Amino acid sequence: MEMFKPATLEERRIYYREEWDIKQVSDFISNSIENREFGFDHFGKGPNDRYKVFNTPDYLKRFLKSKTPFAAYCSVAFYEKPRRRKGWIKSELVFDVDAKDIPIRTCGCDDVCEICLREAKEIVEGLIDTLKGDLGLKDIHLIYSGRGYHIRIFDADVMIMDSDVRSQILKYVVGADLPKDKYDDDNGIYNLEHFSIPFGYPWVFTQRVKYAINHLTVDSKLEDVNGKLLKDVLTNRNLLERNQWGLFKTNIGPVRYKKVIKAITSLNMSLVDAKVTIDLKRILRLPSSLHSKVSMRCTEVKNIDTFDPFEDAVPGFVWERNE
Ligand SMILES: [Zn+2]
Repeated sequence: MEMFKPATLEERRIYYREEWDIKQVSDFISNSIENREFGFDHFGKGPNDRYKVFNTPDYLKRFLKSKTPFAAYCSVAFYEKPRRRKGWIKSELVFDVDAKDIPIRTCGCDDVCEICLREAKEIVEGLIDTLKGDLGLKDIHLIYSGRGYHIRIFDADVMIMDSDVRSQILKYVVGADLPKDKYDDDNGIYNLEHFSIPFGYPWVFTQRVKYAINHLTVDSKLEDVNGKLLKDVLTNRNLLERNQWGLFKTNIGPVRYKKVIKAITSLNMSLVDAKVTIDLKRILRLPSSLHSKVSMRCTEVKNIDTFDPFEDAVPGFVWERNE
């Protein structure tokens, strides 16, 4: 696809010098710029120019316009001494959904395409609903990264949480824990048949399992699930549209059903890059910067319903390529 071609050095120069504007950097970065660590990738070999600090947005502007880097990143952490990554104050809570790493993609493409980018957006919409509705979080920003999405959360009480708590939140929102309650059977596996009025975590879990099953293909790889069982799941999944979990279970067989639910539970863990969520000192692609590998702009999503990366995150030089 024309759109995903890498940007040349000349195109990067055009982008940063003629098109990019410091105002496109999200306020949540500009307002805390002196506490953040920046990192840059100048040659497309990874962000090895790190520990950079800018005391004002104007310094960042001058740097980007002169260096026109291959990629630009900024810490999720706030430090007293960002130049040495010392004096940690707090970190954003982050969920990183990269379209190419989603374990249930219906496209089967090698890299990213319109289909898996749309599926990545569906997944982040589900996660944001849970973060807001179940966890009561309010200060949530969504960023299109160039090949997926970053959810960045600024609620004061979560920003000081350690990695363990972040990992628990992650498991909750993606549905990576088997729900446990009085309906647990001998094997400790939740019997989905019983929650006819699910709420809280069982509801989130049900939604995630349903989404995953609906996005399986004959080529999907599920732990401990063979081709025959996968085929039976695909044949019967229409039952889940009407929440007929009991019938679904009977048709598949209770033992095989448990296998499927267990496999989906561990698959859900890889909907999000867990390393990013638990790492308090991570650097993330800077909103407004160019993702040079695919020639797309890392862009803050203002309206999730109308956002379309192929309209809203395509730099001017890409449109001109086709003329
Ligand atoms: Zn794809």
